[in-house]
Amino acid sequence: MQRRSYYPANQVLNLRDELTSLFYGDESNPGIAQTVLIRRLLDQHCACWYASNGSPNSACQYCQGEGFLFVETLNNVYIARNFGSVLNPASVINRQEFLAQYGLTDENRALCIAEHDCFPNYERYLKPEHPSYDKLYELKVDDDGVLVQPVVRTAKWKLRSVTPHRGDGSQIIYFEVGCEKENL
Ligand SMILES: [Zn+2]
Repeated sequence: MQRRSYYPANQVLNLRDELTSLFYGDESNPGIAQTVLIRRLLDQHCACWYASNGSPNSACQYCQGEGFLFVETLNNVYIARNFGSVLNPASVINRQEFLAQYGLTDENRALCIAEHDCFPNYERYLKPEHPSYDKLYELKVDDDGVLVQPVVRTAKWKLRSVTPHRGDGSQIIYFEVGCEKENL
């Protein structure tokens, strides 16, 4: 006779799965993630780049003034507005802030939480000579919260820092992204 244990075997909580249910919802919550567009700059200058003065053509129709070639991807993230990244001082808050009950606030900063596979080349963000910042665009949704297609950009953030947070077995569980507001 096979012995079966009455209680299920102990299992380690899978933090990536926990984040997935938090992001996309489960039986107890509707999901808190929103779809954004991330503009990822490549380390290759656009043809409009003037090496002599180190600046791009701001009216360039290919790179839209970035000076670098880039790709854009749709990703799901959670955005907490009014917070700078606490862990990475790259997004240091340097002007006088409004002190709310929960601390200092700043409408030009946001903290963004992204999934473990969002930044495969995250070491790129740690380099001090990082040539230019990747951008994150918030996107328009309809009355039911469904993404409007083709996408309409409603807010632009500069990715100032990307900090990996690790869990069991050294796996990256999520990325903490420090964002700074830019004009669209
Ligand atoms: Zn260009």
